[in-house]
Parts: sequence; structure tokens; C-alpha cells
Amino acid sequence: MARAFIGFGGNIGDTRQLITDAIICLAQRCELHILAKSCFYQSAPVEAKGGDYINAVIEIETELSPYGLLHICQAVEQEFGRERPYANAPRTLDLDILSFEGVSQADAELTLPHPRIIERSFVLLPLLEIAPNFFLPNLGELKHFLPQVAHQRIEKLPCRNCNCGEKTVSSQTAH
Ligand code: ADP
Ligand code: MG
Repeated sequence: MARAFIGFGGNIGDTRQLITDAIICLAQRCELHILAKSCFYQSAPVEAKGGDYINAVIEIETELSPYGLLHICQAVEQEFGRERPYANAPRTLDLDILSFEGVSQADAELTLPHPRIIERSFVLLPLLEIAPNFFLPNLGELKHFLPQVAHQRIEKLPCRNCNCGEKTVSSQTAH
């Protein structure tokens, strides 16, 4: 079994509901097991068009290969109406594999860990929420990269399913 993290994002439609439904879709697959799910975050687009994004991250364990997991993620994107009219276009639902235990590769079809994992507050905050001490062999502990994304606007949304009790967390003070 390998552990992996998947990042979700979108800014068309009721993204919070879409991500919730996509996670349910994944949970129904026998090839993977969901270990943890972050709260939802609302973030400003970074090098992308459209309105604010909603983001979340989950941790899974799976016996799938990295490509097997990518194909499942892409199938879920299609199921939820993902279109790619141009790079960084607004999207209903984007699923990115952020890391896959023990795998480091730079194929165009699948780069692992995800090359922009430390550059985005909308990845770092939800990831560190569910894995506060997450580290990557070549980068060390990811929490050390938080100051570099502190200028990127992001807000933790009130949770329905957890007791975190926080309305707003800036990237400076996230746990
Ligand atoms: P974005 O870069 O905004 O996520 P897309 O979702 O359209 O854009 O993805 C573009 C391509 O990125 C996909 O065709 C996919 O094969 C590739 N890709 C490379 N690495 C990854 C990864 N770690 N997770 C998901 N897709 C990836
Ligand atoms: Mg993607």
C-alpha cells in the first residue's frame, strides 16, 4: 500500500459540492481508501483566470500505480464536466496528485511530487492541515515554505464536518 495526497480545486459552479461529490466517488472505489480530508479553503486565482477557487486535499492509501491513480483522477474530472479550453482556464474540478509515497519522477504526463506543491498556499494549507509534519526528501518539511506563500490570499471556510471552529485562517497562522 502506498500513501498519496490528492489536491482538488475549481472555480465554476458549486465547487464545494462538486469536491464533496468527487470525494464520495473516490471513496466508492475499492482500489483506494481515504485516510483524511481537509476542510475547504477559498483562494484567489494564481496565474489563472476567473473567480476565487475552492480547494481541499485528501490523503489516501492505495495499491494502484501512480498512473492508475492519475487515470482515476482524470475519469472523475471528466465525470464532473472538466473541460480544458486553454491552459489555466477556469475549471469545474481539477484533481492533482500532490505526492505518491516513494515516487519521484518528471514525466510530462505525471510529475511527482507535483512541481508546484510548495508554491501555492491553496495546496500547502490544506495539505499541512491533515499532515502537519509532511516532508519531501528533497525539500524537507513543507511547513517551512509557508512564509513564501503568505502573500497569496486564502481563507479557511467554516467546516460542517469538523470541530476546528475557525472561521478564517491566514497562511501566516495556519496550523
Ligand atoms: P493543471 O496543471 O492546471 O492541473 P491540467 O489539470 O489540465 O492542468 O493538467 C495538465 C496535465 O498535467 C494532465 O494532462 C496531466 O497528465 C499532467 N500532470 C502532470 N503531473 C500531474 C500530477 N502530479 N497530477 C495531475 N496531473 C498531472
Ligand atoms: Mg490538474
